[in-house]
Amino acid sequence: MSTTVTLPRGRFAPTPSGRMHLGNAFSALMAWLSAKSQAGSMVMRIEDLDPRAKHADYAQTLMDDLGWLGLSWDEGPYYQSERYAIYQKAIERLQDMGLIYPCFCTRSELHAATAPHASDGTYLYQGTCRNLTPGQVAQKSLVRPPALRLRVPDANDPRGTISFDDLCFGHQTEVLAHECGDFLVRRSDGVVAYQLAVVVDDALMGVNQVVRGSDLLGSSARQTYLARLLGYEAPSYGHVPLLVAPGGRRLSKRDRDLDLGALRAMGVRPERIVGWLASQVGMAEPGEELAPEDLLPRFDWEKVQAHHDDILVDAESVLEYFRA
Ligand code: GLU
Repeated sequence: MSTTVTLPRGRFAPTPSGRMHLGNAFSALMAWLSAKSQAGSMVMRIEDLDPRAKHADYAQTLMDDLGWLGLSWDEGPYYQSERYAIYQKAIERLQDMGLIYPCFCTRSELHAATAPHASDGTYLYQGTCRNLTPGQVAQKSLVRPPALRLRVPDANDPRGTISFDDLCFGHQTEVLAHECGDFLVRRSDGVVAYQLAVVVDDALMGVNQVVRGSDLLGSSARQTYLARLLGYEAPSYGHVPLLVAPGGRRLSKRDRDLDLGALRAMGVRPERIVGWLASQVGMAEPGEELAPEDLLPRFDWEKVQAHHDDILVDAESVLEYFRA
């Protein structure tokens, strides 16, 4: 009897809106280790959907930084900006299922109606445009182009309760109607929503393991739901801790002094950075210098689980460490 073993296929999915910082590098390292330690593969996808945030040179620099760290990929790069026709087909399929409706709410109307308990910065859509008549739609269309929203099942409909086992955060259950409500698949300016593009791409690129920062844990239920509707098998998810500045602010591309450009300009070796990143989750001793391959035998999701709280990064002391 032969058994088929499915090897993990992960991805790097950077948004090219700035230079990579240590937090991005940490997520990328964990994604690579998780796939490669199980003889899996990696896909590179540049998430450049939003034309307002498009900087072609950052895409190239991000890939260069990953390569410099020793993180490789087996397929790609794919550019989301070149895949609009594919996303449009998926939207049409959802439209054919009767699940899409136009939404004319402005940003300020949405914010004014935000439910107080909406988690992770996602607002809970109140359904304002859910039941507009064709006449109302025609009239409102004269004023502004609509966004497109996906109808989620009512709270008491079991299809809208999504459960999955996160590789780091364990069992998760979310009732879509309580957490986010009907969500966007296309913005009013025609830009395809992240949630839709990511689901379509992960499925078509054969990605079966999504490893990314824990700020996206709350997106996984929406993505699992969308995957089911489109007839795809949802990937497994592993959300890794975020690197945060003192005060709890998530490290972002604004933290220039901790980005790879600054660290490389300081003459820091990639092995020193990889070792430091690994030491944050107990996979290396402080001061160890390592290539990603050296970590393959040490990678273990249990170690990540044991360190799943945000990792506090004080820029001054980190820079001091790298200068030494
Ligand atoms: N493009 C997103 C980012 O750079 C990641 C999306 C994902 O991993 O699903 O934050």
